[in-house]
Amino acid sequence: MASEIIPFNRPHVTGGEQANIEQALKSHHLSGDGAFTRRCHQWLEQRTGCAKALLTHSCTSALDLAAILLDLKSGDEVIMPSFTFVSTANAFVLRGAVPVFVDIREDTLNLDERQIEAAITSRTRAIAPVHYAGVACEMDPIGTIAKRHDLRIVEDAAQGIMASYKGTPLGAIGDLGSFSFHETKNIQSGEGGALLVNDPALALRAEIIREKGTDRGRFFRGEVDKYTWQDVGSSLLPSDLTAAFLWAQLEDAGRITSERLAIWDRYHAMLAPLEQRGLLRRPVVPGHCTHNGHLYYVLLPPGTSRGAVLGKLREAEIRAVFHYVPLHSAPAGIRFGRAHGDLQRTTDLSERLIRLPFWIGLQEAQQQRVCETLGAILGR
Ligand SMILES: *Cc1c(COP(=O)(O)O)cnc(C)c1O
Repeated sequence: MASEIIPFNRPHVTGGEQANIEQALKSHHLSGDGAFTRRCHQWLEQRTGCAKALLTHSCTSALDLAAILLDLKSGDEVIMPSFTFVSTANAFVLRGAVPVFVDIREDTLNLDERQIEAAITSRTRAIAPVHYAGVACEMDPIGTIAKRHDLRIVEDAAQGIMASYKGTPLGAIGDLGSFSFHETKNIQSGEGGALLVNDPALALRAEIIREKGTDRGRFFRGEVDKYTWQDVGSSLLPSDLTAAFLWAQLEDAGRITSERLAIWDRYHAMLAPLEQRGLLRRPVVPGHCTHNGHLYYVLLPPGTSRGAVLGKLREAEIRAVFHYVPLHSAPAGIRFGRAHGDLQRTTDLSERLIRLPFWIGLQEAQQQRVCETLGAILGR
């Protein structure tokens, strides 16, 4: 009997996107920083408490903007996990800076704050914690280290919207933070992102860099009588059509998050017996972290062939995937970065990780099928 395919991801639309785009079309403002962009900025500022939010084309371009803003130069070093998406490192490499890869924690797979200090040199300028799966890094100790060594913190909160650390929203804790609105993220606009500027001293310059190095933002607010070239910059703002789409999603962020958390909780309950039998390890969310149901992963026992497990899931029409290939082991990571220590946990955990199908609309019966199939494969 052929079973129906369970896809890995299906981008969620709220139903409000099209009406918003039509409204943007009627307004005749299609380029960046129109009415919908302003609404999105206001929402992000109110919900996170950041000093200034700026929509960008992607989380990648928000990180690019952050790296320009921090005036990073050739040979400067930025501490980050190796277990992350390439954009965390690329943004800094583009400035000539060197990503210094530090190992991750066993429980959350986040940057291990206990190993940061040993990786700091006279060239270290910043720390880029990545909140994996929307679960916060240990931001209190990271903040203490940054203060002690006069380092900036750039949070890669690509996966972190609506999640928090001890009550503070992710992305709004460091000097700068970034969100992704890629279609694989909780809140999406196909492609999209935002920079959260938490240090108010960086806000005006961030706006200028994002607008081709001009003070166009100030001009439109009536603060200057013409706009001119003030600084380096690029065109990092999305069109108001993208913002119109995004606005429908932000307005629905509460419902989207609770639906994702319900799916996450179901997986977590269904997989508890497999964990008890030692067949896999489930994600760990520390009590002081409020997550957002961004993704659900399991860790296979050491020595299990992940390729074989994924292949058998595929035969059962279940699309599961893995990530990340650790950056310190990738060709560009070797060329541009520096590994701190042996990064053994990064290597070990990344090789054992499987992400399960996860999207709004995934039915309980489908989750049951995923978990039963996984149990049958692993329990053999
Ligand atoms: C998705 C993701 C990015 C990149 O986001 P884009 O919006 O696609 O540029 C960066 N870092 C992490 C950790 C991500 O998950």
